[in-house]
Amino acid sequence: MACDFYQLATPGVQGLHPYQPGKPVEELERELGISNSIKLASNENPMGPSPVAMAAVQAALGESCRYPDASGYKLKQALSERYGISPDTITLGNGSNDVLELIGRAFIVPGDEVIYSQHAFVVYMLVAQSTGATSVVVPAREWGHDLDAMAAAITDKTRIIFLANPNNPTGTWFSGQALQAFMAKVPDDVVVVLDEAYLEYVTEADYLSGVQLQAGFPNLVVTRTFSKAFGLAALRIGYAVANPAITDLLNRVRQPFNVNIPALEAATAVLGDTNYLQRSVELNRTGMVQLEQGLTQLGVNWIPSVGNFISVDCGRDAAPVYAELLQEGVIVRPVANYQMPQHLRVTIGLPEENSRFLTAFASVLQRL
Ligand SMILES: *Cc1c(COP(=O)(O)O)cnc(C)c1O
Repeated sequence: MACDFYQLATPGVQGLHPYQPGKPVEELERELGISNSIKLASNENPMGPSPVAMAAVQAALGESCRYPDASGYKLKQALSERYGISPDTITLGNGSNDVLELIGRAFIVPGDEVIYSQHAFVVYMLVAQSTGATSVVVPAREWGHDLDAMAAAITDKTRIIFLANPNNPTGTWFSGQALQAFMAKVPDDVVVVLDEAYLEYVTEADYLSGVQLQAGFPNLVVTRTFSKAFGLAALRIGYAVANPAITDLLNRVRQPFNVNIPALEAATAVLGDTNYLQRSVELNRTGMVQLEQGLTQLGVNWIPSVGNFISVDCGRDAAPVYAELLQEGVIVRPVANYQMPQHLRVTIGLPEENSRFLTAFASVLQRL
C-alpha cells in the first residue's frame, strides 16, 4: 500500500494550508481570456522599481556565478548609516517573512505559546503552526491590536508575541507610548516581534519605530522589508533588527546564502535613492485620499489605514464582489481568512488604477 505521507508530517505541518497569495495578473488573464487587468492585491509599489536599484541589479547579474556575500556587509553598512543601527544587530532575510520564520525556529519548541492579534498578518499563524506552537489569538479592538489584552494573555508558556505596526490587512496602528507601556508589561524572557513592513508610509506624529526602544527592551525584535515602499517585492529582501545575542542566534538558523546578489545590490542602491522613497510615500498619500473620497461618494465604509492599502467594507459577503471585480479585470484581496468576510483589501495604486477600481466597484455593487 502506498505510504500516507501526510501522516509522516509533523502535527504542526499537517495543520498547515498553503499561503494564498494575491492573484497574479497573468493568471487572471489566462483564465478569463482578457487583457488590461490591474492588480491591487499584494500591497506592491505601483510606481515600478527604482531605476537606480535596477541599474544595480543589471550590474550585479555579471556576478551570478558567485555566491553572494553571506555577511551582507555592504547592505548592513548602508542600513547602519541610514537608521543609526549597529551592523551586529541586523539579520538579513529572503523577505521579512524569512526572518519571521527564523525567529520562530530559533525560539519555539512544540507546546510553547505564541500570542498575536485577531486580524493580524497571517504569517504569524503560519510560524506558530509550523513550529508546533499553540497560537493564542487575542480579540482585536476596533480592528486594531488590543495591547492591554495581549499583555494580559501572557503565561509561563509564552515565548513570542507578534505585533504589526501598522497591521496588514487592517491598516491600524498604535502609538509609541502604547508600545512602550506594552513592553514594560512583558517579561524579559518573552520575545516581542514588531513587524514594521509599512513603517515608511506612516506620518502620524505619535508613531515610533521599535528600533528607538530597543536600548531599554533587549527582547524587542523589529522586522522590516524592502517589498513595499522600497519597491523590491520580487527580489525578496527584508531584515530584523535585534540585540546582538538574538541576532547571533538568528544568524545560526539562517541559511548562509539566503539573500541573493541582485537583492543585496538593489536594496543598498534604493536606500541611497531618497527621491524614490519620497515619491512612493507621496503617491500613496494622494492615492489614499482619492480612494477615501471615492468610497465616501459611494456611501461605502472602510477601516482607516496608515499603510499602502485600505480594507473596504462591502456591507455584505465580499466573495461575490471579489469575483465580479475579477470579471472587470480588477484584482483585489479577499480577507475572509482574516475573519473579515465582508471586507476586501485594496492596495493603493496609480491614480488611474484607483479610478478604475472605484468605477468597477460602483458598478459591481449596483448589479449584485
Ligand atoms: C508584506 C508584509 C510583509 C513583508 O513580507 P516580505 O516577505 O518582506 O515580502 C511583512 N509583514 C507584513 C505585515 C506584510 O504585510
